Amino acid sequence: QFPFGRRLPCDIYWHGVSFHDNNIFSGQVNKFPGMMETVRKITLSRAMRTMQDLFPLEYNFYPRSWILPEELPLFVAEVRMMKDRNPSWKPTFIVKPDGGCQGDGIYLIKDPSDIRLTGSIQSRPAVVQEYICKPLLVDKLKFDIRLYVLLKSLEPLEIYIAKDGLSRFCTEPYQEPTLKNLHQVFMHLTNYSLNIHSGNFIHSASVNTGSKRTFSSILCRLSSRGADVKKLWSDIISLVIKTIIALTPELKVYYQSDIPAGKPGPTCFQILGFDILLMKNLKPILLEVNANPSMRIEHEQELSPGVFENVPSPVDEEVKVAVIRDTLRLVDPQKKKRKDTQVLWRCGAPGPFPTAPVQHLTESTRLTPCSILCCRCQSLEQAPEASEELPEAALPSLCLKQVFPKYAKQFSYLRLVDRVAALFIRFLGVKGTTKLGPTGFRTFIRNCKLSNSNFSMAAVDILYIDITRRWNSMGIEHKESGMCLQAFVEAFFCLAQKKYKSLPLHDQVASLIELCECRLAALRGKRLVWGCG
Ligand code: ADP
Repeated sequence: QFPFGRRLPCDIYWHGVSFHDNNIFSGQVNKFPGMMETVRKITLSRAMRTMQDLFPLEYNFYPRSWILPEELPLFVAEVRMMKDRNPSWKPTFIVKPDGGCQGDGIYLIKDPSDIRLTGSIQSRPAVVQEYICKPLLVDKLKFDIRLYVLLKSLEPLEIYIAKDGLSRFCTEPYQEPTLKNLHQVFMHLTNYSLNIHSGNFIHSASVNTGSKRTFSSILCRLSSRGADVKKLWSDIISLVIKTIIALTPELKVYYQSDIPAGKPGPTCFQILGFDILLMKNLKPILLEVNANPSMRIEHEQELSPGVFENVPSPVDEEVKVAVIRDTLRLVDPQKKKRKDTQVLWRCGAPGPFPTAPVQHLTESTRLTPCSILCCRCQSLEQAPEASEELPEAALPSLCLKQVFPKYAKQFSYLRLVDRVAALFIRFLGVKGTTKLGPTGFRTFIRNCKLSNSNFSMAAVDILYIDITRRWNSMGIEHKESGMCLQAFVEAFFCLAQKKYKSLPLHDQVASLIELCECRLAALRGKRLVWGCG
């Protein structure tokens, strides 16, 4: 904390809410530019839809979703078609306002005609989603899982998953949705912030009881009932990697805009909260991604009517302290220069090594190459010689497990939109923007030689105007004019369909990417030769 300003650069900047650069030219920031926007309900749904179009089987862990109000007619038509095809299908849908959290404004419906489009919350854009009617129950209650994921780097992609998470329970026994129980939030919504107001809410005194438990305690129970928890973990890891692969194209656009390549700037990392629901058959379903997961390790308790006190929450402490401690260990800049100094070390005083995170560093205690903070007695000491370094083994084992690049081989074929985003970024031209102008789009078409007698440059301009206008009218805030990444992806898919009509969508897009990359490489080669000449 720097209440009186700061003169020297820091190794790590820990921002509360979002990335804001404030003239940071070095070090690491705990937030990515654009993360908040990228994981909003609508943006996430759009990114997942693109991936579902390309890889329907791989991305079936995200419920079918529609964006309101613009896709209301599509929602109505698709539901009608599915009902016609299967008259016994009795679906339920969940409507979630965009940008909402903690269950704010969420409601369940049985029919598209029940959507409320007026009223202050209802007039906000929203996502309507297929409701998962058969969740796994424990003690007859619905619950969801909050897992912490560290996105340590975007380029190259590095992802870590915390080995334990939180399970948050409903407070009314679950029944499949009927018109009678649709409004019962304590039965259908697992949000802690809602259920805490239920008379049945139980503050957990240990990690395996009450309304908030550790995920590992649930896994223990499942395992004792003979469930294949190894497969469950592997499915969860795969869900997390695939979701981040869906988010990276957009994040890269924001990143190059805020931190242009080749200019001094910080690197970023971020702890994300993944909300996952388990179906009865143990299939994990992604509900949402939180850019700012709560790291509170206390909860409020009402001592007497109207008198509240913050008391420690053992379950939160068990999971969250380890996540923060290990994030700091993984991004520890001193790790790279171990020879100079050591961040955490043990002074001579007796006692166990702490598992609690290091205290907030203030100007007077900020680490410098020659001073260190003892994490047990919190005294500022001279750095030990390199030979006195504390071995990593003296710390508790890492709760964050690397999953990418560890499993990169299995997932790299999914990174198609990343390659489309690389083309987009290449033609953005002026650094600092996130939108492509008409000239940039024309240059892309020209350099990749995509226009011909059937597709004139006039048709290129019409495609640009049509798609850009539609995306810009969708009620998303715009600081800049031009074509956003998602609009470019749509235009790219359009071009791919035109060029490779007979192929399935995935092959159309993959072929066009290869063609563009090839032509751009050839152009670069030619320019190099001309340069030499
Ligand atoms: P918020 O950000 O407001 O918490 P969520 O998307 O997390 O919104 O939804 C709130 C709760 O609603 C979830 O914790 C979950 O219990 C329930 N929920 C959300 N989506 C679904 C779904 N598709 N099927 C079943 N339950 C859902």
